[in-house]
Amino acid sequence: MRLSRMFVPTRKEDPADAEVVSHKLLVRGGYIRQLARGIYDYLPMGWRSIRKIEAVIREEMDRSGAQEVMLPAVQPAKLWKESDRWDAYGPELLRFTDRKDGEFCFGPTHEEVITDLVRGEIKSYKQLPLNLYQIQTKFRDEIRPRFGLMRGREFIMKDAYSFDTNLEAAKESYDQMFAAYQRICDRLGFEYRAVEADTGNIGGSHSHEFQVLADTGEDQIVSCPECGYAANVEKARTRRDDTDRTEDDFVAMETVDTPNARTIQEVCDFLDRSADELVKTLIYRADDTHVALLLRGDHGANEVKVGDALREAGIEADDLRLATDDEIKEVTGAPVGFSGPVGLEIPVVADHSIRSMSNFVVGANEADAHHVNVNWDRDFEVDAFADVREARAGDACAECGTPLESHRGIEVGHVFLLGDKYSTSMEALFLDEDGKHRPMQMGCYGIGVSRILAAVVEQNHDDDGIIWPMPIAPYQVHITVLHIDNDEVMDAAESVYDRLVDAGVEVVMDDRDAGFGAKFADADLIGIPLRLVFGARGISNGNVEMKWRHESDSQDLPLDDAADEVIRQVDEAMKDFR
Ligand code: ATP
Ligand code: MG
Repeated sequence: MRLSRMFVPTRKEDPADAEVVSHKLLVRGGYIRQLARGIYDYLPMGWRSIRKIEAVIREEMDRSGAQEVMLPAVQPAKLWKESDRWDAYGPELLRFTDRKDGEFCFGPTHEEVITDLVRGEIKSYKQLPLNLYQIQTKFRDEIRPRFGLMRGREFIMKDAYSFDTNLEAAKESYDQMFAAYQRICDRLGFEYRAVEADTGNIGGSHSHEFQVLADTGEDQIVSCPECGYAANVEKARTRRDDTDRTEDDFVAMETVDTPNARTIQEVCDFLDRSADELVKTLIYRADDTHVALLLRGDHGANEVKVGDALREAGIEADDLRLATDDEIKEVTGAPVGFSGPVGLEIPVVADHSIRSMSNFVVGANEADAHHVNVNWDRDFEVDAFADVREARAGDACAECGTPLESHRGIEVGHVFLLGDKYSTSMEALFLDEDGKHRPMQMGCYGIGVSRILAAVVEQNHDDDGIIWPMPIAPYQVHITVLHIDNDEVMDAAESVYDRLVDAGVEVVMDDRDAGFGAKFADADLIGIPLRLVFGARGISNGNVEMKWRHESDSQDLPLDDAADEVIRQVDEAMKDFR
């Protein structure tokens, strides 16, 4: 294509609300435009890259035996009521009525629709397993749409759903999808981790997220460089320290004045202790009761794990939040900052790191006072020990003990083993070999196509613009013609252009009537991986300049060899991603 005829509206200015580089560069490079909050147009160059991402995903889905379908975006409320998600999904679900007052929503995901389709057609174990996928537009009325394509309200997702006769077989389908997602991330050239993840409101028992490493990612993950254990911090386990306390070392508990020392730092400074000698007491409200959560002074709570631990201890915690200042005062009798477990009459749940601690410091449930030399069991009782703290870099890996690394990640994909959550509530049953009706065992697998476009840019850019990896670049080669009025230059460029196009190479040719500076700046901004420059001086010497977008040096090619050399290099670069 000739740039003079193309719709690539580049800009010099960043969009006013852009916080991350992918949002800035995709708008400035003429790839996307915002229509409304979190809703974007894909322009020709953006759409080409989206189509390439889809092609990689499609190939890997097809290769793993999944079959492509296309389901409606508009879904009847009736199905969501069957699965009990009409109320549970909340305001992210865009709901509306049709002219006959029928209730509908715009699909944020398709478990209900696919389960409805499959339950109507699949009756026997002989028809299973089955894996169906689609690539489609979703809508989620996100509370904070931001970061351009990374967290939109309307976005493109590939979603797949597997149906099996039993849990073991469903686990196999899950493993196949997991492997397909790894291949997809590899082929897109991502630096990523597949991490253990929380299952959130999709439900199910077992799940992994595919996290692309980037400082702008919204997720925090930890990973072990030794054994490969990796998890979202929402889920990451911490290693239990099994060292025993020596009761002989216990010292008598004392109450000490700590005027105005409320924060961990203030108490440490005042008592000349380090944070790991303190135990902090967080008061939570869990449904209708209050609970005290004990953590080492330098640790932070992980609320997903706190909720799990409370439920495990028999405390209902569907609605879990930190107690208000007034509630703390009521429960402990002291202002915020002086809570402690000694004498408290609510359940006490302690992080397992506290098991091995002795002679520690806690709040005294009295303004301006702390207890020192406190020991659990002797001075107060713990109702349950559990893993409730947030893992962080340097913690010992739960599997092998090696210090963990931590990264920010962009979640591009998510795989879930659902089990019979939807098939039971929606009665997707099949007749098993022994003549019994059973619910199908399901898995669901999402990958964010439009979020991937943003994630690629987050990992592949410099100050001047995007640096596309070859397989998803909108075009493979960018020809810059500096002197469009010079016939010799223009003829040379045209002939190389034609040869490349004939060989199936995807080329744009900048034949615009513009200055050198503008042409180079746009080429860098748009970020096509391989550039050829045709200028009067070079051509008079029989040379063309070739430069990779990711390298700083260019190289002169004899004009006669230029096309062949470029074809060879493009082919070579594509090989890395097949
Ligand atoms: P997040 O935690 O980022 O909100 P999620 O857990 O809600 O993601 P899933 O329901 O698992 O996401 O959806 C599958 C995939 O769809 C995600 O891995 C992500 O790539 C993509 N996705 C989800 N929400 C958005 C969004 N608002 N904008 C763009 N892509 C999204
Ligand atoms: Mg979400």
